[in-house]
Amino acid sequence: MARVDTIVLGAGIVGTSIAVHLAKRGVAVALVDRGGAGEGTSYGNTGIIEGNTIFPAAFPSSFSALLRVALKRAPEANYHLTFLPKVAPWLLAFRAASQPSRLVETAQIIRPLMARAVAEHEALSAEAGAEKYLRHTGWLKLYRSDQSFKAQARELELAARFGIANVPLDGEAARALEPSLKPVFRHAVHWTGAVSVSNPLALTRAYAACFSALGGLSFNGDARSLHRADGHWRVDTASGPLDAGDVVVALGPWTPDLIGPLGIKLPLAVKRGYHWHFRAQGNAGLSRPILDADNGYCLAPMEQGIRLTTGAEFAARDARPTPVQFDRVLPKARELFALGEAIEPKPWMGSRPCFADSRPVISRAPNQRGLWLAYGHGHWGLSLGPATGRLLAEIMTGATPFCDPAPYGAERFMK
Ligand SMILES: Cc1cc2nc3c(=O)[nH]c(=O)nc-3n(C[C@H](O)[C@H](O)[C@H](O)COP(=O)(O)OP(=O)(O)OC[C@H]3O[C@@H](n4cnc5c(N)ncnc54)[C@H](O)[C@@H]3O)c2cc1C
Repeated sequence: MARVDTIVLGAGIVGTSIAVHLAKRGVAVALVDRGGAGEGTSYGNTGIIEGNTIFPAAFPSSFSALLRVALKRAPEANYHLTFLPKVAPWLLAFRAASQPSRLVETAQIIRPLMARAVAEHEALSAEAGAEKYLRHTGWLKLYRSDQSFKAQARELELAARFGIANVPLDGEAARALEPSLKPVFRHAVHWTGAVSVSNPLALTRAYAACFSALGGLSFNGDARSLHRADGHWRVDTASGPLDAGDVVVALGPWTPDLIGPLGIKLPLAVKRGYHWHFRAQGNAGLSRPILDADNGYCLAPMEQGIRLTTGAEFAARDARPTPVQFDRVLPKARELFALGEAIEPKPWMGSRPCFADSRPVISRAPNQRGLWLAYGHGHWGLSLGPATGRLLAEIMTGATPFCDPAPYGAERFMK
């Protein structure tokens, strides 16, 4: 029987970062996953460490935008009709949280955590010898119309208030930065402080290797075997049972599978998303991720090729993939950049674990001694993994947390 102080369940970017931060503070930690580190949602994202992000993704603000989604004409969103009744309460809460005043409130609440995103990745990647995966070239949001650019005024205003660096550009200036982009857009904003990752899987693996170098133990096992035994938490692993006084659940979109049966029901939904790698034609290339804001997809240069990522799909996490958004966005992407043929036969699908208030849960679990939760990072999990690792490790070891953890408490759903 192996025994450690803390078991971390889930070796995505969030769980792995927590494991490293606890190990650095002298805690004996075991990291348990059913697969390899970083092979879940953390594998397939756009790779943007979004320290600059101000407003969370929001419910459509106009009737016409909502109608486009409803009619399945919106490139940025898709849904399964049969899933809507299930997700309806979450969507109503999401719509309420998308009121302009609530978005500003969320931007302010999330800022202390978001402001650490880049610095914590820089620190961890330096320790892990993984700096080579980080690109300090910012990211570029493109706007095809004057109207869509003008709609960003509030965000730019708040960026100025928060001191977040950005450079609004006309189409020509943006193409000076990215000469392979075709002139189909009129405006751009270069968020210069953002960092992007050339291989998110390799980055999480490097953080996991750093954890091992600190003496951390990694196991394969099914987290759902968690139970209490002899006054401890116990998980069954491929190497036998593992005991600990504390357990951190960082299973991303799979977290409800474990905590639901323990009586913890928090209102998580998933926004499914897809990626597909393409070759670039000829000498075309990108130095940083690009958002085509009017069409709701990103292009990100990755070691595997140009990764096209889609927006949100509201569907059951385990329902079969329906990558119809590619039919809508690929023609638009080809207008913008010389995409060649697809590298894989079909797209990858992942599920962003999302709370309607666009904040993760990073806290003690309600009513379960020694159980901690770190999940629900939605669109920002890659960005916030290491900052979450630091915050939770500080809370668990009794250190002064670098920011107020109250907004991330599970209790906010119990009122
Ligand atoms: C298309 C797309 C684009 C995105 N782009 C960005 C971006 O540019 N920037 C950004 O910050 N975020 C982005 N995200 C979001 C980000 O990828 C996620 O928020 C983040 O990866 C969540 O990390 P996690 O560690 O919580 O979950 P995961 O990476 O899913 O990790 C959970 C782990 O739990 C394990 N697990 C599950 N069930 C069990 C079980 N029963 N037993 C044992 N192990 C189990 C899984 O194997 C997995 O390794 C994007 C997401 C998508 C889908």
